Amino acid sequence: MKHFKNVLFFIVSFFLTVQVCAQTPVIKTIGFPDIPGYKTLVCDFHQHTVFSDGEVWPTIRVREALNGGLDAISITDHIEYQPHSEDIPHPDRNRPYHIALEAAENTGLLVFSGSEITRDMPPGHANAIFLPDANKLVGLDSMEVFREAKKQGAFVFWNHPHWYAQSPNGTAILTRIHKQLIKEGLIKGIEIVNEHSYSDEALKIAIDNKLTMIGSSDIHDLIDWHYNTAEGGHRPVTLVFAKENNEESVREALQLGRTAVWFDQTLIGKDEFLVPLIQQSIVIRKTQIMESYTGKSTVVSISLENISDSDYILENQTDFTFYDNTDVVMLKANAVTTIQVKPLKALKTFTLRFKVLNAVTAPKKHPLINVNVYTVQN
Ligand SMILES: [Zn+2]
Ligand SMILES: [Zn+2]
Repeated sequence: MKHFKNVLFFIVSFFLTVQVCAQTPVIKTIGFPDIPGYKTLVCDFHQHTVFSDGEVWPTIRVREALNGGLDAISITDHIEYQPHSEDIPHPDRNRPYHIALEAAENTGLLVFSGSEITRDMPPGHANAIFLPDANKLVGLDSMEVFREAKKQGAFVFWNHPHWYAQSPNGTAILTRIHKQLIKEGLIKGIEIVNEHSYSDEALKIAIDNKLTMIGSSDIHDLIDWHYNTAEGGHRPVTLVFAKENNEESVREALQLGRTAVWFDQTLIGKDEFLVPLIQQSIVIRKTQIMESYTGKSTVVSISLENISDSDYILENQTDFTFYDNTDVVMLKANAVTTIQVKPLKALKTFTLRFKVLNAVTAPKKHPLINVNVYTVQN
């Protein structure tokens, strides 16, 4: 009987353990395939800590980035806004960077120095990253602070240009001062996505002025709370198409505008990057011709695996129709979706063409992608 009790205890504790394991939240990393010629790096260049108006120590930002599978981050505390200064006087504005850099040692995560230049609109807020000495930006006037950042070799982008607190109609407006900053090469990028917001107008400004497209979390509390990662949410990120996974390559890619933004299951960027990125994300796993009573039918079943972390909503652009779908097909992230295509005659090869409805290349414009199908295996 005692022995039976032990066995019972073992069985109960085993199931309890399984139960507890099943309830442990799965940590969700962000991943996208590389594109021809470049590595796709997942980056967040706009984050706060207690060294300005954030609520956490810089080490937490490093842990969050590692949990989320990010390749590069920068911590960009406000230079001019220091609400915790009574508790944390913060005489050295490079300190949050140094703490984060030490925490990221030997993890593979790249950490870049940075600060948020915090002014009324115009020019509003801007982030300077790759900034060797943030202390030198303290106390300078609106133009001088940008000139000092440039002198230090920083990459500067305009933050949340559409933020309704500073731009009451919620629209990004390019003022004379912004035009001057762009003309002098003092601003090289622009957030088209900040936190939970996206701006069509900022995207247009980016395209018209050849500014690098940036998407940032601008996190102040915790990524998991703020973006509800337990329910499948994700922080906005900048995808950087870099030759190598190192600081120099990220800097080069930012200078040359090789980025895209992933925001709320939507990709935003230039055609030249979104098309290969989405095409590399979709892999044909199986092609099968369906059988009829008299032999082969002309219906072709195609299993498509989406190996990226973004869902794709595809709209059929060909004359073919589908046997088991309307003209809109959803490819869930990290899953295989099978569609049955009706080319109406036996074809050795054909091309499916889709408009990607949850990807944006310009205001109200969506990229077109091809999927080449071979019905005869070599
Ligand atoms: Zn800001
Ligand atoms: Zn900020």
